[in-house]
Amino acid sequence: MAPDTTTTNIKAAVRRCAAELGFDLCAFTTADVLESAPHFLRWLAEGNQGEMAYLARSAQRRLDPRSVLPGARTAIAFAVSYADELLPNTALAVPEQGRPASESCESGFTGLVARYARFEDYHAVIGKRLEVLVDFVSKLGGAGTESIGHVDSGPVLERDLARRAGLGFVGKHTNLINRMFGNWFFIAEIITTVEMEPDRPESNRCGTCRRCIDACPTGAIAAPFRLDARRCISYLTIEFRGSIPAELRPLMGDKIFGCDVCLEVCPWNRLAKSGGLMSRHRWSTNGRLDLIEVLRLDESGFRARFGNTPIARAKLAGLKRNACVALGNTGDARALPALEKLIMDSNAVVSEHARWAVERIRQRM
Ligand code: SF4
Ligand code: SF4
Repeated sequence: MAPDTTTTNIKAAVRRCAAELGFDLCAFTTADVLESAPHFLRWLAEGNQGEMAYLARSAQRRLDPRSVLPGARTAIAFAVSYADELLPNTALAVPEQGRPASESCESGFTGLVARYARFEDYHAVIGKRLEVLVDFVSKLGGAGTESIGHVDSGPVLERDLARRAGLGFVGKHTNLINRMFGNWFFIAEIITTVEMEPDRPESNRCGTCRRCIDACPTGAIAAPFRLDARRCISYLTIEFRGSIPAELRPLMGDKIFGCDVCLEVCPWNRLAKSGGLMSRHRWSTNGRLDLIEVLRLDESGFRARFGNTPIARAKLAGLKRNACVALGNTGDARALPALEKLIMDSNAVVSEHARWAVERIRQRM
């Protein structure tokens, strides 16, 4: 595609290129310091980030796009939807234990994976396309232009940048909501020295609704717009490496990687449109994994099965730990042999969770 260099058409050219590459939304904002700074710093001071110490270490940098790219004038936010008509609303369904529910479940014990992780690793899928866009934007800006792109891993507060650009509003569950795509989308951004006119942010549209707060199984949404990551199943099953607080384990049900409950109940998802890009990279439709199979995985098996999916982030020990909790929550004695074997696991966290699961099942027998 030949770059269009007239200033008035720059935004339209970026939008067109983004759409051709599979991005569903594209919006523009300035590279000024984020207005959410006081809220973010208070959230950190309260310790809500749990063990994600990197957030506090890089707090000032995260709030200022120019600390990432000196001379930056514009941030461009992109959304890629992972809403998919083949992915039913499963987060609220009670799993029917004893009957195979996954595409290849033999044991009958299944654990649930969050929707976003039912696709190949989005960093790779979106990252490749974002690189093309970064080049495109830099060419539009001409000689001396600098641009960098990130996919959900940038050193800036991407959600807040995207909100200011008008990609959506932040719901009480603290995720971004777009009127067309609900809350099922990935965010990516480009920070560039090219100057472009900012779009308008959207104001919050939650009204009096508090469905996400009431539905959260662990009470992690401590107040509207305030997430206590230390109680959040998403954080506990993905980012957190240690021993899951015992009082939270029974509340996790069968969730072994992430949690969609606060998203599933949000009324803004009722009409969420599907995107096309991620559907071509789906590896599971129902998001259910055979828990006994997970307990039996070794490192090479884990890499072969999940190496190019977001599940790799939890690492093998994390996934086994989560599977132990889910099996303990079934209360089903048929899970005991596999769990008892795992008590001998060389990983202390896995071993402790296996012991907990065995005890929980025995108590309920
Ligand atoms: S992801 Fe799950 S645990 Fe975390 S806030 Fe939402 S509903 Fe609660
Ligand atoms: S469930 Fe209701 S309160 Fe929560 S984010 Fe959605 S609209 Fe807002």
